[in-house]
Amino acid sequence: MLEFDENALLPVVAQDQLTGEVRMVAYANAAAIRHTLETGRATFFSRSRKELWVKGLTSGNAMDVSSVLVDCDADCLVYLVRPHGPSCHTGAPTCFFRRLSLDDDKLAIHDDEVPASTLLARLEIVLDARRSSSAAKSYTKSLFDGGPSKIGEKLREEADELSRAIDGETDDRVTSEAADVLFHVMVALKSRGLSITEVLRELERRSGTSGHDEKRSRATAKSGES
Ligand code: AMP
Ligand code: ZN
Ligand code: ZN
Ligand code: ZN
Repeated sequence: MLEFDENALLPVVAQDQLTGEVRMVAYANAAAIRHTLETGRATFFSRSRKELWVKGLTSGNAMDVSSVLVDCDADCLVYLVRPHGPSCHTGAPTCFFRRLSLDDDKLAIHDDEVPASTLLARLEIVLDARRSSSAAKSYTKSLFDGGPSKIGEKLREEADELSRAIDGETDDRVTSEAADVLFHVMVALKSRGLSITEVLRELERRSGTSGHDEKRSRATAKSGES
């Protein structure tokens, strides 16, 4: 079964099930793990307070746990979570907002230049930088400057290229065109102040229902609106 350490604890990584971001690491004893599985609320054991710690009980920043994963030798866990609000007691979304490096052969902690934890999140940051930059040469910048009509035009163009590619072109072409579409979708979202995360949330919301049911419910909602 689970391999608790000499203090009857296990380290637990809390990871956002939607974005893949690691939010925090804490310890759990058997009672905390049980409480997590029974209530669906991330529960740890506070080593400083020496008591069961239901994350968010005082801050309101709880985490719903959708699954608990166990590693190969059963000595640590991952809570896949849906976080409510920031997860760090400093108010930061994740505890991991600092970066470690070797500077002149010494370990150094940096408070800045922390890369976002996923490629899509890093791309969002690049898009933000391009949008607010004054560099005239950036293609991305020219898209933002062109506004909704220019972005929409490129989006239609890329979607058209992708639809041709899937009908008989190579896998490499399909992949490349899909990347073009995804990139321009992210630009379009960004131009509206939205991000891919809102889209992921919407997909997640729908994932409880089958594709057909989902389409039907949207069709009903639409006809109800008009
Ligand atoms: P909370 O569980 O969010 O209501 O916070 C209760 C207390 O737990 C805080 O006052 C902190 O001392 C501690 N705490 C909360 N979040 C973290 C975290 N991510 N890492 C370490 N300690 C935390
Ligand atoms: Zn292990
Ligand atoms: Zn923290
Ligand atoms: Zn293309």
